[in-house]
Amino acid sequence: MALDVRVATSMAEAAGILAADQRTRLLSGGTLVMRDVNEGRFLDGTLLRLTDPAYRQINASGARVELGAGATMAMVLANRDLAFLHPVARAVGGPAIRQMATIGGNLFAETPYGDFAVALLALDAQVMVQSGYGSARAIAIEEFLNARERGGAGLVTAVQFAKPQNAADFRFRKISRVKPKGISVMSIAAHLPNSGSRITQARVAYGAMAPTPVRARGVERALEGKPLDAASVQAAKAAALEGTRPATDAIATEWYRREVMPVHLGRLLAGEGR
Ligand SMILES: Cc1cc2nc3c(=O)[nH]c(=O)nc-3n(C[C@H](O)[C@H](O)[C@H](O)COP(=O)(O)OP(=O)(O)OC[C@H]3O[C@@H](n4cnc5c(N)ncnc54)[C@H](O)[C@@H]3O)c2cc1C
Repeated sequence: MALDVRVATSMAEAAGILAADQRTRLLSGGTLVMRDVNEGRFLDGTLLRLTDPAYRQINASGARVELGAGATMAMVLANRDLAFLHPVARAVGGPAIRQMATIGGNLFAETPYGDFAVALLALDAQVMVQSGYGSARAIAIEEFLNARERGGAGLVTAVQFAKPQNAADFRFRKISRVKPKGISVMSIAAHLPNSGSRITQARVAYGAMAPTPVRARGVERALEGKPLDAASVQAAKAAALEGTRPATDAIATEWYRREVMPVHLGRLLAGEGR
């Protein structure tokens, strides 16, 4: 058994190496991969480093945001155009983890991790995936997350999404037992654009309420076309658990997650503190 380390200088080269050998894993920030190495779960294969500067690039000044998959949580926090995402990036681990943890790696992080992916789901992001030496294709994040378990995704090069027109339309909350850096009991992200004070195209996503981040479609339906008032918040709470499959893990039981989700959702929608 042996572990190699290879370096690719371009995204095409990295995608080609990943496609050619199933035992190769990209080392993005390494916060999860290196744990697998250190704890003996990944001992035979290749760790691939990618040094292409485009992998870490952020373009966020315009209406459409592109985050290179290799951009870190710390880089998001340092970017003023991404202020609406700062609470999300700040929710990932402690300062040392945020310095290394990347957007791309978070898309692969198993529940109850994946807090940033929850926000990207509520933002209707497209995941750019390059398989082999061809060019990257855009996959809707929901489809990407559904396919994730089947493996063989290729190289994620970037994520893209439309910036919320009004930062206040985007809300995020992570519920954890240990503050500030505990693992999620659950997380909730909501993008609630409104026109004439009625919500249009509501997007609500949960973390740690299913094996991957999921859309809360019942909640979205309850809010669609309504003003965000006590009646619509109540209707959203009643639909809060539709489509969820929370697990029992070291952080919380399935029962507890089901009990408290409507409460936290209601507070998030009503703009209340925790
Ligand atoms: C102490 C600690 C605390 C943590 N706290 C949190 C937390 O609060 N919230 C949270 O969401 N996560 C948390 N994490 C998990 C993790 O740090 C983050 O999810 C992080 O964003 C993962 O990114 P990474 O770049 O480090 O991934 P890596 O470890 O580099 O990669 C993870 C997996 O994704 C694959 N991968 C990575 N990037 C790509 C790509 N571009 N294309 C294809 N495959 C890719 C890798 O090959 C690997 O299989 C924590 C981890 C630790 C160790």
